[in-house]
Amino acid sequence: MSSSKVIQIPFVDLGADFTKNESEYLEVFKKIGRSGQYILGENVIDFEKNIGLLLKTKHVISVGNGSDAIVFVLKALGIGPGDEVITAPNSFIASAWSIVSVGAVPVFCDIDESLNLNPVELSKHITKRTKAILAVHLAGVPSKIDVIENICKQNKIYLIEDCAQSIGSLYKSRSTGTFGIAGAFSLHPLKNLGGLGDGGFITTDNAELANSLSLLRNHGLSNRDSAETWGYNSRLDELQAAFLNIRLQNFHKNKKRVQDIASYFMQNLTSEIETPKIDSDMDVFWHRFILFTKSRDYIREELMNKGVDTRIHYPIPIHLQNCSKNLGYTLGDFPKTERQSYESFSLPLYAHLSDLQVEYIVQCLNTIVKKAL
Ligand SMILES: *Cc1c(COP(=O)(O)O)cnc(C)c1O
Repeated sequence: MSSSKVIQIPFVDLGADFTKNESEYLEVFKKIGRSGQYILGENVIDFEKNIGLLLKTKHVISVGNGSDAIVFVLKALGIGPGDEVITAPNSFIASAWSIVSVGAVPVFCDIDESLNLNPVELSKHITKRTKAILAVHLAGVPSKIDVIENICKQNKIYLIEDCAQSIGSLYKSRSTGTFGIAGAFSLHPLKNLGGLGDGGFITTDNAELANSLSLLRNHGLSNRDSAETWGYNSRLDELQAAFLNIRLQNFHKNKKRVQDIASYFMQNLTSEIETPKIDSDMDVFWHRFILFTKSRDYIREELMNKGVDTRIHYPIPIHLQNCSKNLGYTLGDFPKTERQSYESFSLPLYAHLSDLQVEYIVQCLNTIVKKAL
């Protein structure tokens, strides 16, 4: 490969899948348009069935987005004002927001080398007010969810999983989202199963909870005329469900491709840069591939000059956001989380990357890292 040739590699390439299967998408668009059935019809029912089989969970309740998925679980479990929910400060803002949105207090706990809640530190954050732990599986890498599950059992609190980034990731051969009382998933276009707009769903094996959740997403209505509780309007559209059913056909193929690219990164990136820490209990459907280096900003800039677009997940930890000021945290409270915000960045990683692009990313990065040191 000539060293002067620049290849443009966008961080994400959302249109690629649509273009590849355009006629199939247009076909369902016409079919649903003509049918006149746009809300809670057969495509949503099929989607929920498909997810149930994919993740091996009894109940799937689709909703309008992943944030509402978390909110509805908290609501349905009766969590609200006066309650505390422990979660990770290195996540996307919605994890903590969903807790705030029901009137409860998010309590942060630092992470371990997997970039998820450090089980060793969890107990020191549990108080009389703690009602649940919201464990995020960041970047698609599962938390040590069985250990966290035990801590929840010992303390008689709920385990809720934020699986917005971890669809299809397994821990000890079980899908993330099937360990806790419920799992909340996002179908936002950027996630590993993304629609052509917003969407989300909840997984649970608990029939009573499933029933409350299906009321909450649809105005509390048990039928056209009877409202059992005060609810919301947050449903997955028929069109989105149909598009997602098309996408699901390639789910395993896409996961395999993403895993192959991640393995290539792991094997070929210079050891002078820190690659993600996973263990053999995990089968990861990567959502992000997060690297650590002290020369982060320099390396990102040089990669951009070579056409390789990268991102930071996330440059401002939740406990240091302006909206969190009332929670009373300060810089220094969560050193591992804060290090992630200073020293990490994410490489492009998606199924549509070609072998040439993947090799190019590695070659550029290895050369730049050598220069940086
Ligand atoms: C995306 C995301 C959410 C929220 O999902 P939306 O569908 O965008 O509302 C929640 N938690 C995490 C960790 C996320 O990445």
